[in-house]
Amino acid sequence: MKTPASTPPLPEPALAPKPDADRPQRTVVVSGIQPSGTLHLGNYFGALRQHIALHKRYEAYYFIVNYHALTSLKDAEALRKYTLDVALDYLALGFDPTRANLFLQSDVPQVTELAWLFYNLTPVSQLEKAVSYKDKVAQGLPANAGLFNYPVLQAADILIYGGTLVPVGADQKQHIEITRDLAQRFNLTYCPDAPLFPIPEPYILEDVAVVPGLDGRKMSKSYANTIGIFDEGKTLKKKVMSIVTDSTPLEAPKDPEKCTVFALIKLFADDETRARIAAAYRAGGYGYGHAKKELFRLISDYFAEARERRRELESHPDYVMDVLREGGRKGREKAEAYMARARECAGLLRTF
Ligand code: ADP
Repeated sequence: MKTPASTPPLPEPALAPKPDADRPQRTVVVSGIQPSGTLHLGNYFGALRQHIALHKRYEAYYFIVNYHALTSLKDAEALRKYTLDVALDYLALGFDPTRANLFLQSDVPQVTELAWLFYNLTPVSQLEKAVSYKDKVAQGLPANAGLFNYPVLQAADILIYGGTLVPVGADQKQHIEITRDLAQRFNLTYCPDAPLFPIPEPYILEDVAVVPGLDGRKMSKSYANTIGIFDEGKTLKKKVMSIVTDSTPLEAPKDPEKCTVFALIKLFADDETRARIAAAYRAGGYGYGHAKKELFRLISDYFAEARERRRELESHPDYVMDVLREGGRKGREKAEAYMARARECAGLLRTF
């Protein structure tokens, strides 16, 4: 695999993963991201940034969950495009394929096999309580069985690599609980004396728990309220200018903590800039238009290098496919080792 010439790496995000010493077992970081649309700031601060930081320290498996995307996306061409886009995004944002594994969920078919074993251990009532399912249906997504069973496939995704640490946004907390329950249920049902699956923990950064979208709701591909990580120029400006704010007049003092623009500024600005802008809000004479201009500049600068690197990678599609192929090979190897034991534990015979 030949790495294309690239711009220097992005600075490492300032976060401190919990040290290995706190853990009873070896840390295996596992996480997936849906290729159901263009990745956005919520995905970056809620998940990707942590993925990038953690993959340099631990054994890590990151997969592009194209099976999951089928729950909402029925356009094959769009799915193919978004899938490769996600791979480009990871590489542009600093994922180093010599340190960890990035691959396609559908390159590890064992994951759907394990999900079937888990379906038979999942009470329907538990899935009926899943907030994410209820939210998506309330927003108008069709309530198909794939969407309903989403958390079970996600549990298989995590456990099939023996995942112990799952960096996700706060919206995923409940799904990780379901994963933990399934790991315990499988172990108790089939192999109480020699538990197969470790019980994973979520890794959620509280200060960026939920990134708000243009309309103030959770930023999500399903809500069409996103700012793309790689949006730039006029597109980015238009989106930033459309962030919904209240009607407090320009001269009046404002509470930065109640403003979506400031919530986003906080993610990008250093302490000094953050304090200066907060003070300007409180003093009055500083309008939401001013804040939006500052936010536009902050986002543009923050991802400038990554944008350049992404452009460079776009002209090396073979390299991107090689990264995914090699990641998939390693993912399958690990998954098959767990799946072979899971079949054995559950009493599934094989003749080949
Ligand atoms: P989406 O809701 O846009 O479809 P995904 O379900 O693909 O996003 O989520 C991918 C990862 O990004 C998950 O770990 C999720 O927790 C995180 N994430 C998504 N939206 C947000 C948000 N608004 N704030 C924080 N994290 C988020």
